[in-house]
Amino acid sequence: MATAAQTDRPASYYRDSIAVRPEQACPPLEGDRRVDVCVIGGGITGCSAALHLAERGYRVALLEAREIGFGASGRSGGQILPGLGTDIATVEQALGREHAREVWELSREAVRLTATLIERHAIPCDLAWGYLHAAVKPRHVRELRQFQERLARDYGYEALDWLEGEALRERVVTDAYPGALFEREGGHLHPLNYTLGLARAAQRAGVTIHEHSPALAIRRGQPADVTTPRGQVSADFVVVGANAYLGRLLPELEGRIMRAANYIVATEPLGEERAARVLPKNDALSDANFVLDYYRLSADKRLIYGGEVSYDGREPRGLQRRMDAKIARLFPALEGVRIDYRWGGDVAITLNRAPDFGRLGHNVYYAQGYSGHGMALAGLAGQLVAEAIGGQSERFDAFAAMPHRRFPGGERLRTPLLVLATAFYKLRDRL
Ligand SMILES: Cc1cc2nc3c(=O)[nH]c(=O)nc-3n(C[C@H](O)[C@H](O)[C@H](O)COP(=O)(O)OP(=O)(O)OC[C@H]3O[C@@H](n4cnc5c(N)ncnc54)[C@H](O)[C@@H]3O)c2cc1C
Repeated sequence: MATAAQTDRPASYYRDSIAVRPEQACPPLEGDRRVDVCVIGGGITGCSAALHLAERGYRVALLEAREIGFGASGRSGGQILPGLGTDIATVEQALGREHAREVWELSREAVRLTATLIERHAIPCDLAWGYLHAAVKPRHVRELRQFQERLARDYGYEALDWLEGEALRERVVTDAYPGALFEREGGHLHPLNYTLGLARAAQRAGVTIHEHSPALAIRRGQPADVTTPRGQVSADFVVVGANAYLGRLLPELEGRIMRAANYIVATEPLGEERAARVLPKNDALSDANFVLDYYRLSADKRLIYGGEVSYDGREPRGLQRRMDAKIARLFPALEGVRIDYRWGGDVAITLNRAPDFGRLGHNVYYAQGYSGHGMALAGLAGQLVAEAIGGQSERFDAFAAMPHRRFPGGERLRTPLLVLATAFYKLRDRL
């Protein structure tokens, strides 16, 4: 099946605004190599894991099937947020209040870690703070306010302010939202430059990166052998950060995630004045619908607007028209604005929308299924994997304890079931 990744036409805005060059070339793997850890996947999960492992003194080889940032990490909306892709009530139900509190605090740490990595490794990725979680209808107003109260009461989280009326219009210039939560600890960045910056930092720490080197099979054992078309890596540990692009590499993980494509457009540069009539404080925003829309400004003042899903890898019909109409409805001043780029990427969704971390045997680690909420969490996942391999697994296990059920049905049935479920939620979004 084609994935959104294969329909990246025209090229994404991110690919056209790369500001980070690799430290050294990343040639395909040729021949046999022996290392301590083989990392599979050159997104944020894999690059962060490789960096943190190398900093701990491990010899690391990273295999990327295409190029660094080819997957979701290089295509994303770039919003970095505390929390998970699921609501905190789901985590509480599964793990209990105390454990949920630990997970929540780790998700905040994920955001801080992102900022620290950017600073420490001087990654030019336009990090900016401020995020709005916007209600679209009265039901959302109630839900968002309850969420704010719950986080303040049970989690001591005070970084959310409720905004409406003029106070909200000072941050987003539209009448479309009856209110929004403003989150001081959320923000946004250029996701591809961030990912490339992590890869460069990993190289500087001693990691060897092999692009165009898909892992075709993992022979489990001690060491484990990872085969690519023209070589093999033998390693004491394997870390898999392939997320929605995993395919059939690890049969044990079949059905634990569902792949869905998500789409983004980037307008022409709006100029300072027009941009200030959209997001005057340069916040990121996503709405509270289940099938949500999200947007932000790029450093050169383009509106980067995301939303819409598909499950068969084909771009939804009329996508461009729908995106144009949404932008014009929110911001009439942008009616007829030129769209310079349109691209898609694949998201890995779990059934409960909490991320899926775990081990297979004692030496294969994986982290996946961030359910559209991985920009910050994936960086933390890499750090926690490195800690666990180093012998301190408590924080990795705080996530790995989350129970996950498989999507029902085989691959053929799973997609129609998810389409049905999403159609239900889309309908609910309209109520
Ligand atoms: C359109 C879009 C918008 C998004 N917006 C946001 C957002 O605003 N905020 C947010 O928090 N999250 C967002 N996400 C989700 C976020 O981008 C992901 O959760 C995160 O980037 C996952 O990182 P990763 O490294 O685990 O996976 P990926 O970045 O997908 O990387 C996986 C890599 O593994 C490689 N690979 C796969 N199989 C193999 C193999 N066999 N051998 C070698 N390499 C392999 C792939 O080529 C790929 O490069 C968005 C995702 C998409 C697609």
